[in-house]
Amino acid sequence: MQVWFSEDQTADLRISVRVRQVLHQERSPYQEIMVLDTVQFGRMLVLDDVIQTTEKDEFAYHEMMAHVPLFAHPHPRRVLVIGGGDGGVLREVLRHPTVEEAHMAEIDQRVVEVSRRHLPELNNFADARARVFFTDGIRHVEEHPDTYDVIIVDSTDPVGPAVALFGSDFHRAVFRALRPGGIFVQQSESPFFNRELIRQVQSSLRQVFPVAGLYWGVVPTYPGGFWTYSVGTRGTDPRRPREGAWEEARLQTRYYSPEIHRAAFALPPFVAELVEAE
Ligand code: SAM
Repeated sequence: MQVWFSEDQTADLRISVRVRQVLHQERSPYQEIMVLDTVQFGRMLVLDDVIQTTEKDEFAYHEMMAHVPLFAHPHPRRVLVIGGGDGGVLREVLRHPTVEEAHMAEIDQRVVEVSRRHLPELNNFADARARVFFTDGIRHVEEHPDTYDVIIVDSTDPVGPAVALFGSDFHRAVFRALRPGGIFVQQSESPFFNRELIRQVQSSLRQVFPVAGLYWGVVPTYPGGFWTYSVGTRGTDPRRPREGAWEEARLQTRYYSPEIHRAAFALPPFVAELVEAE
């Protein structure tokens, strides 16, 4: 008998993957957590029936979340990841030699524990520079003014505890938690299916940050496969890597490159219209 897992990506669109084995399933205080071994994508983390990350395509997303802000910033020393309990963004952040401290504020301790056990390739929590806070990311930024060079939100979709991570109050708190020149990035969903959300996040970032923008990349398991990242900075130009940074860091990457960094900010007209002020 064949077993399939289906995610309703919109009310009218479903993605289905064939499952070899259910490796883990539990209800945490925050959400239903599942790890599946799938034929097409390898191991897959699923929260409340929504695909979060998979062994096969995680690099495309995690590299773009981490390397765009970290290579654009003039000297990123202290970095915060909000959400991101699978550890993929934190792992990429820790590959940067300039990083002295990498913090993660994840609301659900069980996501981290389950990912450590079932998705060990995705994370590097044992690195001495890494520190995990089990708390709401909003509270964490409010309690840490003028602390971070880069803040990255790797959240679930805007439902439940993640809703406020897409709003103006949170963006203002992030601005205060960043040091001068600091960069903020958050995943901002699909330009095919979440157009209002992208418009709203962009408008909020323009109000709060002197520099705001949008870049994009491909992630096959997210709705539509075409994914956006919204960025706001305290003055730094996010659109290109700083001089010499790539050569110095000597990273082996599979999606990110300095050319992809620059190209990711070139927007098709149907996406560009979402970032323009009305
Ligand atoms: N890359 C995935 C995506 O785009 O769908 C997200 C991966 S990561 C596992 C998402 C994490 O955000 C979850 O573990 C969830 O517990 C966490 N999260 C949601 N709201 C949060 C909040 N307010 N503060 C901290 N973590 C939060």
